[in-house]
Amino acid sequence: MNYQNTLAFAQELDRQDPLYHFRDRFYFPQVNKQDAIYFCGNSLGLQPKSAQMYIDNEMYKWANLAVEGHFKGEEPWFNYHELLAPATARMVGAKESEVVVMNQLTVNLHLMLVSFYRPEGKRFKIMTEAGAFPSDQYALETQVKFHGYNPDEAIVELFPREGEHTLRTEDILQSIKQHGEELALVMMGGINYYTGQVFDMAAITKAGHEAGALVGFDLAHAAGNVPLYLHDWGVDFAVWCTYKYLNSGPGGTSGVFVHERHGNDPGIPRFAGWWGHDADVRFQMKKGFIPMQGAAGWQLSNAQILPMAVHRAALELVDEAGGMEALRAKSEKLTGYLEYLINDVHVGKEVLEMITPTDPQARGCQISLLVKRDSRLLFNKLMEAGIIVDYREPNVIRVAPTPLYNSFEEVYRFSEILHQCLER
Ligand SMILES: *Cc1c(COP(=O)(O)O)cnc(C)c1O
Repeated sequence: MNYQNTLAFAQELDRQDPLYHFRDRFYFPQVNKQDAIYFCGNSLGLQPKSAQMYIDNEMYKWANLAVEGHFKGEEPWFNYHELLAPATARMVGAKESEVVVMNQLTVNLHLMLVSFYRPEGKRFKIMTEAGAFPSDQYALETQVKFHGYNPDEAIVELFPREGEHTLRTEDILQSIKQHGEELALVMMGGINYYTGQVFDMAAITKAGHEAGALVGFDLAHAAGNVPLYLHDWGVDFAVWCTYKYLNSGPGGTSGVFVHERHGNDPGIPRFAGWWGHDADVRFQMKKGFIPMQGAAGWQLSNAQILPMAVHRAALELVDEAGGMEALRAKSEKLTGYLEYLINDVHVGKEVLEMITPTDPQARGCQISLLVKRDSRLLFNKLMEAGIIVDYREPNVIRVAPTPLYNSFEEVYRFSEILHQCLER
């Protein structure tokens, strides 16, 4: 696309944008008495205006039905989580039986590792990207120790080549091949939180399986950001949070994908709870765990209704906007425009370097800027000017325009302010 560095051009793109009006469905934080330019959906998505009503409904049921709310009314809490399955399945490219919404992300990652990291003999290693989100690093480290291995030996990290910031797919596939016979599991982010790189999940899954390993992804930065086809890719398991690109509130609930080839296998080891027990006989309170079919068989506790109510409101907006393909179509343009404008600012690499891949297929909403001079100062100036982005140590500013509530004009204004901050 041929972009132009003018306000009029940005406004024209907004006029042509079929998703433009979805902005009105969200609350924007206020800075200097106006709507902030919010490019932080990679950390915490904005509040959908409809969320309050969904919460109020459940509060009303709690007030008026109390314990009877589990079984009475239009949407009883007993199977409230099931209301989320169709939209969740569409969002990640799965069958409804392959997904479940429950708990929070790191808890779910541990549950999946209990089931799908099963080291045996010399096949005991986990391959992952170096610099993964700390929670994922700690989960892998402690799971490996739990099985009696030394993390330094059992965790194989993938590093970019000298002088590069992101991983090349060919190198990932080559490493999987090379370590093939020792790998029990390949477990990576779907998108690296720091660089914004989208990994080729289809190719990685295929390579992992060819090596005889299982393959799982943490989709914290991918869910709601890029289209996913987990079932068709053959991914063994995946987990994600819902408070980033899925706008479902701080500490919100999480999603899990278990491929159907595992979901109906009651022999898979797991840490169980009563909510994963066959629902037809759950309330007989009998001894002996019988898992539900599919991902639902990994549930532990009764559903967290309030976070799930918010998640429902947020998922409905994804569907209403036309699903992930429609969001992605706008997102590529929006991020492309951001990239074009940052490049047009003409600052040298000794000041500012984009570490996110330039290939649109290898990135989502986010562009990470490595700021080599006074990075904190730049971040503070942007925040004072009403631009909410985020800062990651040691010196990266992440900028994430999201297709549901951000506009081309905001991207333009961001670039203008960035330019001014760098000049001063
Ligand atoms: C945001 C994020 C987390 C956060 O984990 P919680 O359990 O939701 O606190 C974990 N992993 C990745 C890759 C993330 O991006």
